[in-house]
Amino acid sequence: MSTEPVVKVRNVNHYYGKGLLRKQILFDISLDIHPGEIVIMSGPSGSGKTTLLSLIGGLRSVHEGSLQILSHELNGASPRLLENVRKQIGFIFQAHNLLTSLTSSQNVQMSLVLNDAIAMEEAQQRSQAALNSVGLGQHIHAYPHQLSGGQKQRVAIARALVNRPPLILADEPTAALDKVSGRDVVELMQKLAKQQGCTILLVTHDNRILDIADRIISLEDGRLASAKAQMVLEMQSTLSTLLQRDEEELNRHVDQLSMAEFMTLLQNLQGESEQLLQTVDILSQYALEKKLEEMMSALTLKVSQLLQADRAVIFLVDRVKQRLWSRVTRYETKEVLEISQPLDTGISGYVVATGKSLNIPDAYSDSRFNPDIDRETGYQTRNLLCLPIMDRKNQVFAIALLVNKMGDQPFDSEDESRFREFTKSLSIILETSFSLLQQYRERVAL
Ligand code: ADP
Ligand code: MG
Repeated sequence: MSTEPVVKVRNVNHYYGKGLLRKQILFDISLDIHPGEIVIMSGPSGSGKTTLLSLIGGLRSVHEGSLQILSHELNGASPRLLENVRKQIGFIFQAHNLLTSLTSSQNVQMSLVLNDAIAMEEAQQRSQAALNSVGLGQHIHAYPHQLSGGQKQRVAIARALVNRPPLILADEPTAALDKVSGRDVVELMQKLAKQQGCTILLVTHDNRILDIADRIISLEDGRLASAKAQMVLEMQSTLSTLLQRDEEELNRHVDQLSMAEFMTLLQNLQGESEQLLQTVDILSQYALEKKLEEMMSALTLKVSQLLQADRAVIFLVDRVKQRLWSRVTRYETKEVLEISQPLDTGISGYVVATGKSLNIPDAYSDSRFNPDIDRETGYQTRNLLCLPIMDRKNQVFAIALLVNKMGDQPFDSEDESRFREFTKSLSIILETSFSLLQQYRERVAL
């Protein structure tokens, strides 16, 4: 066995933004982590911990400096090499990111299925063994909603460990847990890592778990500080707090916000969504789809309330497939609506083509309205408002379709301007999630 460091970082600088907005986030980071070491990285929120972790994990590209991870240089690495390095790393995140429609065992197997051509039977055996080792042998058929927070995080650990990765990267894995389960979870990670001889880099704010570390490093304003641990417990970021909620809670949470609070939420999300969605289990298309769907559902609900529409749909414009696509869960009925329609027809076609909004006070007297939809669904459309949502290049990237304004007046120009007020943040959030999903799909298709 070589004694080469598992993680060898040299003079790494990292930046976000372009041109005048370019801002340096990491400054001259050098760091070695040796085989079998458990290293905790602490530091205030915003100091660059997640950024450094995602660089080490091959989840974002290196700007300056050298990162040798498991003996592979990541600076300038091909997508294939990055993928290969990622497969050798077990990722554990703050939100467990289990798929709600799969059992514990199936969730753990996902990691095997995504990573390797392993036979089904072996995948089952290995996932069972991994769940046994985290003390969940009795819960292999349980769905996430039947498990406590600590149990769910233990499933996430089993999922990360089932491939027996030589390196584990964990980003605030206890942040969503209470004191006791948080402690249990890291002790378990420690025990399993020692058994399997794996190396752990764990980011945490939680000063109650610092003692499990062989070594503590601290990041302050993008610079590695002395080994003294930062013991500041800080507010969790807005998005991660939201992502931890289950779907119903998320809807309820967004539902209760005033207009001003909602605007603030969107502004916070705007800054955080890109970063978080990149870090959140990027290996799992399913998880990403689910999150995108949850975001769309919650935001759609809010849009319909703000503009007092009986129904609202947000469609994403898929220019590759030339279709409009929407998938939301209706809050009241839990019914999942997936709609896909051609890009260039009817009212939505007009809005996509022109980038202009379209207000139709009387649907049945407008030739662009297709009454077949009412005929099929038994719904009675009276009036419509269809609004474009622009991306950063000022192209129509999504549209919002609002149907039947409450009361007896149709939609008016005030509704349009109210919608525009928050479209900007909305579009960045949706665009980010959607483009990540597209990238993921492309990568998988290769
Ligand atoms: P930490 O993990 O300590 O919270 P981060 O790596 O998340 O630190 O963020 C470091 C800094 O970089 C913060 O100021 C954050 O706002 C900024 N940042 C993170 N991701 C992005 C991004 N994708 N685009 C622009 N700024 C970002
Ligand atoms: Mg972070």
